[in-house]
Amino acid sequence: MAAYDFDLFVIGGGSAGVRCGRIAAGYGARVAVAEARFWGGTCVNVGCVPKKIMVNAAEYGAWADDARAFGWDIAKGAHDFAALAAARDAEVTRLSAIYSRLLTNAGATVFDARASFIDPHTLDVGGKRVTAERIVIATGGQTVKPLIPGADLGIDSDGVFLLKTLPKRIAIVGSGYIAVEFAGVFRGLGSEVELIYRAERPLRGFDEDMRAALDEAMEADGIRQHRGETPEALERAGEGLQLRLSSGRVIAADTVLFATGRVPNTATLGLEAAGVTVSATGAVVVDAEHATSQPHIFAIGDVTDRLNLTPMATAVGHALADTLFGKTPRRASYENVPTAVFSSPPIATVGLTEEEAAARGPVDIYLSRFTPLRHTISKRTRRTTMKLVVDQKTRRVLGAHMLGDDAAEIMQGIGIAVVMGATKEDFDRTIGIHPTAAEEFVTLR
Ligand code: FAD
Ligand code: NDP
Repeated sequence: MAAYDFDLFVIGGGSAGVRCGRIAAGYGARVAVAEARFWGGTCVNVGCVPKKIMVNAAEYGAWADDARAFGWDIAKGAHDFAALAAARDAEVTRLSAIYSRLLTNAGATVFDARASFIDPHTLDVGGKRVTAERIVIATGGQTVKPLIPGADLGIDSDGVFLLKTLPKRIAIVGSGYIAVEFAGVFRGLGSEVELIYRAERPLRGFDEDMRAALDEAMEADGIRQHRGETPEALERAGEGLQLRLSSGRVIAADTVLFATGRVPNTATLGLEAAGVTVSATGAVVVDAEHATSQPHIFAIGDVTDRLNLTPMATAVGHALADTLFGKTPRRASYENVPTAVFSSPPIATVGLTEEEAAARGPVDIYLSRFTPLRHTISKRTRRTTMKLVVDQKTRRVLGAHMLGDDAAEIMQGIGIAVVMGATKEDFDRTIGIHPTAAEEFVTLR
């Protein structure tokens, strides 16, 4: 008779939890996973996937315009927002079902229920007491709006996927990943877009040259940026809304989107009952093995608030299952993680920014700005910026950055080179693929 109902109980069926539960079950562990809202979590349901579909939709509009310069006799016509939403939602439903099936096929037990701690080994799972030898917290995060009067009149990123019609005028607060991605989406689909943020440039934390290039590209696309501003109040104004800013400026909009960050989902987990420590921001505190203050309780993914990206969450979930049940202890590295911002145009990056690298020692910078061949013909104002940050002493490429069409697709391969420790000379002796934008990375002088 086993002492516990399960060897492993995973709370949260998102990117991190599903991967960890599935791999652990594959090793023969008795695994259960509880999901309160939607299998596949944020990424599949209200994140990467539906967002990228909308990014794709926005791109088609500009391509239709570009096509005329290449001789196609086409008119763009109107965009059917409801048709896009239906196609997007059908794909999300299909993928979400796959995530739950992945677990049951691997032999895990699934609970469509919220779970919280009763004591360090016992959970309340939708009203049922369940015990487990080990427990993984993979509850992700949720959006947070600024504490200003009328904030409830605005939507968050989850709300974007509930819109029935395209807002004619949208005001977006913030300039992180979500804000700049949706600024590009709504502008591409035809909305008037006002982007309001408190810094002088968008995307704090990214390489300064990429921030400047995105700022310029958004201006060229007609996104109106309000820099150095914070929102003070949101009010109804007739059929629409008005957002009051710190400068006294008032922005009129049909929809206001707060893209002002996310916080870990820990508030209602009963972590005190389990003796699990959280940080001041509510993130579960973990060591290098992802163990919490209780050695049999682990936390993975966005709930730990470290590099909140899907591939990071799945990598950590997989490594934890290998370590606990696969007899192959290993860690996923948080170094040199490639990432892309699906703005218009996208930004992709791996490694250190120039500013981070220069703080560690002398660096050489290789930078190129050019109009890609497609746009010398389309005449769309669309420039590409590419940059390598190189350690002066070792010649290792410490960082690669790109703003331009296909940046995310290109950076995945560059990421391998950077992870392997490639030097600038390794890049130089690689023959380019011509004619591409990507070849610039091996011809930068
Ligand atoms: P989640 O995916 O959030 O999963 C946590 C799950 O736990 C949720 O399903 C939740 O319902 C469930 N849960 C919470 N509490 C409980 C409970 N008590 N009991 C049971 N279940 C519970 N990342 C990228 O890499 N690329 C992108 O392009 C990208 N785009 C994004 C776009 C948007 C709009 C957003 C919001 C995020 C995006 N991300 C992207 C980030 C990515 O979605 C997250 O990093 C990733 O989903 C984290 O996975 P996770 O498993 O840690 O958490
Ligand atoms: P971010 O933390 O990236 O950005 C939050 C933005 O909101 C910043 O511009 C911040 O300003 C601003 N902000 C925060 N609080 C306030 C406030 N009170 N008033 C005004 N502005 C405020 O969060 P996101 O919500 O954009 O995204 C969350 C995370 O999800 C990302 O960090 C990323 O890890 C992940 N993600 C990844 C994507 C991808 O891989 N493509 C896409 C989308 C999300 P300031 O900079 O001045 O602090």
